[in-house]
Amino acid sequence: MISFYPGPSAIYPQIVGYTKDALESGILSSNHRSAVFIDLCKKTIDVLKSNLGIPQDYSIFFTSSATECWEIIAQSLILGSSAHFYNGAFGRRWMEVTQKIYPQVEGFAFDLNEELTAEKYAVSDKTSLICLTHTETSNGTQLSSGTIKSFKSKYPNALIAIDATSSLNGIQLEISEADIWYASVQKCFGLPSGMGIMICSPKVRERALLIGENNHYNSMVNSYDMMDKFQTTHTPNILNIYLLYRTLEKSGAVVLRQNIIKNRAKDWYKFFEMNGQRSKLLVENESVLSETVIAIKADQEVVEELKKSCLENGFVLGNGYKEYAKTTFRIANFPAIEDVHIKTLQDFLIDKI
Ligand SMILES: *Cc1c(COP(=O)(O)O)cnc(C)c1O
Repeated sequence: MISFYPGPSAIYPQIVGYTKDALESGILSSNHRSAVFIDLCKKTIDVLKSNLGIPQDYSIFFTSSATECWEIIAQSLILGSSAHFYNGAFGRRWMEVTQKIYPQVEGFAFDLNEELTAEKYAVSDKTSLICLTHTETSNGTQLSSGTIKSFKSKYPNALIAIDATSSLNGIQLEISEADIWYASVQKCFGLPSGMGIMICSPKVRERALLIGENNHYNSMVNSYDMMDKFQTTHTPNILNIYLLYRTLEKSGAVVLRQNIIKNRAKDWYKFFEMNGQRSKLLVENESVLSETVIAIKADQEVVEELKKSCLENGFVLGNGYKEYAKTTFRIANFPAIEDVHIKTLQDFLIDKI
């Protein structure tokens, strides 16, 4: 089966060998306070910084998922209120999870085809955190660098937090434009699920210390104390950290391969525009189309038929999500997916869509 599911998604073929190496090396039986682990942690943070273009003064944390990052941010980093801008299910869910922990949230829904900018909206004076979803995996939209910049310049004192789960490590993001970026590794990192990565600017540490919340094992105050020593507050997913290190060391900088992702996205969109008799792009505004998650709309019977015939022929398409569950399907365009597999799927789909 070749998976085009946008999470968990295709993992890099090298993962088999790396996992064997991990088992044989003894790292999986090493204590997470040992020099062996500390060395791995440090090397992984170094390669993350160089591959993703993360400024040296930013900190990196290993969490268990992107969902956990929602909780950590709500527990440790909000003063006054947080403002959430969303056009789909993941952005909305982030707001809902936050609200249960920290009730003072401000929600701003925007349209699927809208190119979001800060100018159009006013958050309250109490807002100290702006929450944006870079790639809304549920509907295949993506923010532009201009969007994030517009929030940063309009709200210079707020922390800007970005859910980059479906784009971090797939396309180059301007990390210095925001204070918090996070993702889980089963999307663009091409790894098995079960780990999140959270990247934080120096302003985040100031905020965490100012609030001083340390009631949870994953509270930011505690996490900073431990990460100063390249350790985690809990026993981390050592296997996934090891696999992350090996994969990143091999793949090199995102900036070098983002053109492949961008060209493949253009190719997918053109493919559906040219050949789609019974299906079309869910998103109409070209400037908000995601480069990593392709969402296609069709009648329910067509969606069902396509997913079924794909499965019978060895391809897994991504289901539609929430309100789009029945009338869309999604195709991941993540780095671990191989060109030859895309070509095979397109050849199969060309006269069926
Ligand atoms: C997949 C996804 C999540 C959730 O990731 P988990 O690893 O399940 O916590 C959150 N946000 C976005 C945008 C996603 O695509």
